[in-house]
Amino acid sequence: MRPFFYLLTLIRFFSIMKKGGKSEVFVHQLQQLFENNLRWAQRIKQNDPEFFSRLSRQQNPEYLWIGCSDSRVPSTQIVDLLPGEIFVHRNIANVVVHTDLNCLSVIQYAVERLKVKHIIICGHYGCGGIRAALENRSHGLIDNWLRHIKDIYRCHQDKIDALPDETARQNLLCELNVIEQVANVCHTTIVQNAWNAGMDLTVHGWIYSIDDGILKDLKVAVRQLDDISVTHRLK
Ligand SMILES: [Zn+2]
Repeated sequence: MRPFFYLLTLIRFFSIMKKGGKSEVFVHQLQQLFENNLRWAQRIKQNDPEFFSRLSRQQNPEYLWIGCSDSRVPSTQIVDLLPGEIFVHRNIANVVVHTDLNCLSVIQYAVERLKVKHIIICGHYGCGGIRAALENRSHGLIDNWLRHIKDIYRCHQDKIDALPDETARQNLLCELNVIEQVANVCHTTIVQNAWNAGMDLTVHGWIYSIDDGILKDLKVAVRQLDDISVTHRLK
């Protein structure tokens, strides 16, 4: 049944290509990405002929970046680093949930295998996820994910609601979300085990401004067990 389905899809694809129309434009746009890729790879090789052969042997990043999926916040570009220098996990509104096996697996691999020295939680102002979490409108499935941010809003509601305008309220929740996620990373068994084993590992909280491309350190870095709440400390 399956080969037949693939054959049917192929026939449909080529018949659309033959007729022209919307799908052809779509394919053309993707072709553009491959052309971009070729130019990009050539540019890198011109500057450093050994770059890709070196990178293909191993990756040795010093940083784990946990950021928002927002297309305007690409990790490597905004800190002007090359592929291979940052291990990355992204999701909507840069949330670290203690039952999210995807995120936890990334943290574990980064800490235990790659032995990164820094975990950076990077939020951004103007985050759609944060804005949605402040509303009461339903957005479908994503409402369940945004619940984690609503919980942070609930904990700081007096402070947030006291602000005079919507942008200020959103900006504060963007920052508070980063701070909360720094704590969530520190509370994982992975990070605590690393500290207990004497590993040099710091968890940072940063925020990025889409308006001017500037990063700000929220100065909430944590680098040892003694810096986290006693309630979450594991021995
Ligand atoms: Zn965002």
